[in-house]
Amino acid sequence: MTYNINNKGYYGEFGGAYIPEMLYPNVEELRQNYLKVMAEPEFQEEFHALLKDYVGRPSPLYFAKRLSAKYNTKIYLKREDLNHTGAHKINNTIGQILMAKRLGKNRIIAETGAGQHGVATATVCALMGLECIVYMGEIDIARQAPNVARMKMLGATVVPALSGSRTLKDATNEAIRDWINNPVDTHYIIGSVVGPHPYPDMVARFQAIVSEEIQWQLQEKEGTSKPDYVVACVGGGSNAAGAFYHFLDDTDVKLIAVEAAGKGVHSGESAATSILGKEGIIHGSKTLLMQTPDGQITEPYSISAGLDYPGVGPMHAHLYKSGRAEFVAITDDDAMTAGLELCKMEGIIPAIESSHALAVFEHKKFKPEDIVVVSLSGRGDKDLETYIQHFGL
Ligand SMILES: *Cc1c(COP(=O)(O)O)cnc(C)c1O
Repeated sequence: MTYNINNKGYYGEFGGAYIPEMLYPNVEELRQNYLKVMAEPEFQEEFHALLKDYVGRPSPLYFAKRLSAKYNTKIYLKREDLNHTGAHKINNTIGQILMAKRLGKNRIIAETGAGQHGVATATVCALMGLECIVYMGEIDIARQAPNVARMKMLGATVVPALSGSRTLKDATNEAIRDWINNPVDTHYIIGSVVGPHPYPDMVARFQAIVSEEIQWQLQEKEGTSKPDYVVACVGGGSNAAGAFYHFLDDTDVKLIAVEAAGKGVHSGESAATSILGKEGIIHGSKTLLMQTPDGQITEPYSISAGLDYPGVGPMHAHLYKSGRAEFVAITDDDAMTAGLELCKMEGIIPAIESSHALAVFEHKKFKPEDIVVVSLSGRGDKDLETYIQHFGL
């Protein structure tokens, strides 16, 4: 029994590769090679050298003393916010750019919604001197001007998606069209544990460095490699997949996935994908997604752009359906309050995505001896304007 992927590319009933025929050769090339490439010692060496000297890993596992005292439990923060570019996303883009090079690809495409994945992709393309094209909805380009500027400074070309609702879904369609037209020289860097197999597994393996470090860091600090709980926010699910990875099959370690309830789970303005989702196909995999009774994808809403995604990766759909992970939905207001609390009590300004995970302590009681590791997926610099408006600062 495993909660990890099976050899057909499924987590339980979720996953697979539901793609147009024309995309099959690209995805199949990746599927046949990704595990082989990742197993090469030279690949591992280069990956880990960059994680160390470029990203700044290992990220600290920090005992939050004042927060622990307040909630009467032992709270550790896994400081992905301290990574280069300010979040966990760089772990994956470093891995995939090395994969692209091994597969002989010299042109990189990506899609981005809030722009964070676009920036992480543009960063590694600059690092490796590869061409970078980022598709982004026209509406998102207007909403996320600072990230568009960052991508341009890093040398990327940002191409507006002008069709449909002109947001993430449309940018994804453009990226897929590009990949179909450029199958030989182009690699498509997907930014979370979503998309057709092998993407969810490949991204989870690159992000698994997070739980690998948690194990030895906790061993040093607490004399055990196992926390009682691991808590992470879930948009597509990559920071949670990384934080959970090495604990997936160890049920002594309880997993808590935190989704964005927006203005309330049943308000019609939410991104609580697992709780509200029905089985369906999105971005090439079978998973849980928010949809109308006739199968139209529902627009998600969250105050944090990174959690504003209508689906969830297949690993998380399975963790939800099987009950392996507990799913908690946190509203905008509660997340913002928890974020500000971390500022005041620990001197750390978190990304609003991560603030959702921190809000778990107001919603669930832990025992004094429990060790609770929270994935602090990113830093809050990018969210300053939202904090200012929310609190009238
Ligand atoms: C993108 C992002 C997320 C959500 O993405 P996942 O794939 O679910 O991890 C969470 N936190 C931060 C800081 C992000 O930038």
